[in-house]
Amino acid sequence: MANKNIIEEQNMLDPTICFKARMSRDNRFDGKFYTAVMSTGIFCRPICPARAAKEENVRYFKNAASAQEAGFTPCKRCLPEQAPEQAMPLQAKRMSESLLTTHQSIETIAKQFDLSERQFRRIFSNHYGLAPKQYRQHHSLLLARKLLLTTTLSIADICFASGFTSLRRFNEQVKSVYKLTPSQLRQQQSRATDDNFVNIKLQYRPPFDWQGMLKFFHLRQLPGIEKVTEHSYQRSITFDGKTGWIEITQLPNQFALNLRVMIEDYSLLNKIIVKVRRMFDLDADMSVIHKHLSQDETLAPLVEKFQGIRLPGCWDIFEFSIRAILGQQVSVKAATTLAGRIAEKYGSPLTVVHEQLSYCFPTLEEMTQADFSNIGLTQSRIQTLHTWLDFYQQYPQVFEQYKNLEQLEDTLTALKGIGPWTVNYIAMRGLSDPNAFPAADLGIIKSLYEELKNAAPVDKQNERFKPKTRDIIARADKWQPWRAYATIYLWLSLAAQE
Ligand SMILES: [Zn+2]
Repeated sequence: MANKNIIEEQNMLDPTICFKARMSRDNRFDGKFYTAVMSTGIFCRPICPARAAKEENVRYFKNAASAQEAGFTPCKRCLPEQAPEQAMPLQAKRMSESLLTTHQSIETIAKQFDLSERQFRRIFSNHYGLAPKQYRQHHSLLLARKLLLTTTLSIADICFASGFTSLRRFNEQVKSVYKLTPSQLRQQQSRATDDNFVNIKLQYRPPFDWQGMLKFFHLRQLPGIEKVTEHSYQRSITFDGKTGWIEITQLPNQFALNLRVMIEDYSLLNKIIVKVRRMFDLDADMSVIHKHLSQDETLAPLVEKFQGIRLPGCWDIFEFSIRAILGQQVSVKAATTLAGRIAEKYGSPLTVVHEQLSYCFPTLEEMTQADFSNIGLTQSRIQTLHTWLDFYQQYPQVFEQYKNLEQLEDTLTALKGIGPWTVNYIAMRGLSDPNAFPAADLGIIKSLYEELKNAAPVDKQNERFKPKTRDIIARADKWQPWRAYATIYLWLSLAAQE
């Protein structure tokens, strides 16, 4: 049954924990490992409703791709292709995102990360238990399977959306791994057909504070581009001139969001899924983050109170970089108003029809032609925007080549008007770096003010106390490597007081 040439799983999975988790069908372990049953050749999620197999008859895998590579087939009851993704360190996550959303060779992708092909393969295999090429292949197959079973997209659309480049090869591979053709596979499951749009279920591991996430985005909503209601997040999207919109809602009684997509070209679907997973931080392993941050006296009650608060990301890094610059030293409300004016004045109309959304955030080209007059910006902020646009035009890869905070800080703070706060805020929400920390943030200062004041030498306490950025950085030291999550908690503590 199993392939001979499988790369053995890393010794990262503890069978005792896996056993307990699958016996109790513990949702918090969903997507963290898979159980393959030797006698049936099927692999399952820990939450599978089927009767659990005996321990001596199973093998554990870290991800669905590895189980499939070893010759096992996804279970029809728990649908492993729909499980949440593994939580991964930022670099490993970015490596797999590049791998899965492009057709570039491993060599080209490795270069982006400033690695040799060999180094890239080694690091990748250490994290994912498979060589990059095999991982890409199985991930594509699993995504195709998910789309075949859950959407009404045409088979050709599914082929390209899941990363295949030829229909013939798609058919061959599906047949060889699943023993059924794509259309036979599709007949196995009844799909919802009452909707003209494509709906994709995006699973997460609980806890997940959906309302908290919506509130965060609501405060920062750009009218005409975003629409945040009590139950949904909607926005216009654009990829190289192709436009559309997405709507994200929570599925009742499930640990999953629903992503509804309308786009001119559905081969972009995988890119959209990857972006949305990141934007809503669906792959985070909150048990690890909660445990770490709970050791801090200030954060412990917040972690307790706001379970499942994630790190809200962004849809597009360029758009976000502009918003970060506009957010320098002003309130969230003021920054949002300014961004809204820029979007309205310089954005292009949304070509697909949507009741609430009317245009797309301006592209780099549209922005470079803007003069930013009459929107309430100071001369120096306008200058910073121009400096930033010039730089970005010259180095559009600056974020793709992100290695670490120090390096990005060195590069960007060399630009006039861009300081460590902006860089860290971009890294935190734009690049989802869990350790980014905008230390000079007004919200952070406010939330730590009393604590830092009390810790100051007695003779300093009565003067007009002003915390130093280096003291805040020192205070945040023990929150590493999750300082970005700590920041979100501190912001929440302020919002809760208001
Ligand atoms: Zn199952």
